[in-house]
Amino acid sequence: MDHFNYRHDELYAEEVPVADIIAQYGTPCYVYSRATIERHWRLIDEVCGKWPHRICYAVKANDNLAILDLLARLGSGFDIVSQGELERLLYIGVDPKRIVFSGVAKSESEINRALSVQIGCFNVESEAELMQIQQCAHKQNKVAPIALRINPNVDAKTHPYIATGLRDSKFGIEAAFAEKLYLQAKLLSHIEIKGIDCHIGSQLTSLEPFKQALNFVLDFVDKMKGLGIFFKHIDMGGGLGVPYHREDSLPTPADYTASLLELLKGRPLELILEPGRLIMANAGILLSRVEYIKSSSVKQFAIIDAGMNDLLRPALYQASHEIIEVKKRQGAAAQYEVVGPVCESSDRFGEYSLGIQSGDYLAIRTAGAYGASMASRYNARRRACEVMVEGGTMHLIRERETWEDLFSHEHRINPS
Ligand SMILES: *Cc1c(COP(=O)(O)O)cnc(C)c1O
Repeated sequence: MDHFNYRHDELYAEEVPVADIIAQYGTPCYVYSRATIERHWRLIDEVCGKWPHRICYAVKANDNLAILDLLARLGSGFDIVSQGELERLLYIGVDPKRIVFSGVAKSESEINRALSVQIGCFNVESEAELMQIQQCAHKQNKVAPIALRINPNVDAKTHPYIATGLRDSKFGIEAAFAEKLYLQAKLLSHIEIKGIDCHIGSQLTSLEPFKQALNFVLDFVDKMKGLGIFFKHIDMGGGLGVPYHREDSLPTPADYTASLLELLKGRPLELILEPGRLIMANAGILLSRVEYIKSSSVKQFAIIDAGMNDLLRPALYQASHEIIEVKKRQGAAAQYEVVGPVCESSDRFGEYSLGIQSGDYLAIRTAGAYGASMASRYNARRRACEVMVEGGTMHLIRERETWEDLFSHEHRINPS
């Protein structure tokens, strides 16, 4: 459930008519619902019940400061994949202890920064990285908390671009190798083993791969116990899918956590989850104007003012989002291929039945995760503005870029 609903054929974001947001801020424009974000976070927290747990929101899903700040105030932890994401969190005053650092390519300077502020855990992805962390920690005279990200060789059955748990993935460490690496880590002077980590992919639509992965991790935990390595936490990453077209077949957060906790029963291990999409996807929409209707002998196009630079998912993963009218018209709908303005044939959102004329507005639903955070300036397009709705109030949480923003960091070599 979200808070983007029709009232008398007019789309509202919580208590605000979406048309008012458009009148004030124009398009393309991302709109988020505070109530939806908070409801999602609280729901995941609640279904974990009394089991010791920490929700570490995956910052890459949407890294706007206003969103990070809302989640921080709910008590959320955070999963980061770069120093840039760390700096965002430090800027708003998040306690570094609540941060876990994932990613295959943490550089020496990123590791140094994370160590100096004493983040909660490094999710280590290779032997070389472990050695780098040991070296940095030694120099800073700090002890680095770590978990190894193991690769359970599970098929997440999702789009190959967002599957990360198979043996040939660049992510994670093979189990046989991770075993040796933990034994090695135990002997390192400036490393403290905290836990074990895995993340098998994103937009998973069934629980089976999660259960397989957790069973695999638990077997590993038992084996390591026999070798004298003990863990405080298990980090199961993120990845639960969301309905992009109102599918009701998807597992709920309650089903998801219940199936994990069932397997964890009897083990004194804190559960860390790193949901990104689950919290943000349905909490955001992207508003866009229909610029032109264009007909060819084989189809009709609705050309809109939002493109792949604003929302990359359809072009990158062949993903499809529900698209609806901001104001419903009476009369028959027609079939359109909805396309963006960018000069790429992949800048298309798909086929939709819509009742529209040029000048009308559309809402692309489920755009709150991996939307604004993946936006670019391709075709010299300014990044869109972002608005957070809170009851009957709208807050501008990111301004639309200015034309000067497009080239303010560039320098000609021979300005005349
Ligand atoms: C992207 C990512 C997540 C979040 O995935 P979602 O599908 O958005 O829940 C969590 N953990 C890691 C390591 C990631 O790379």
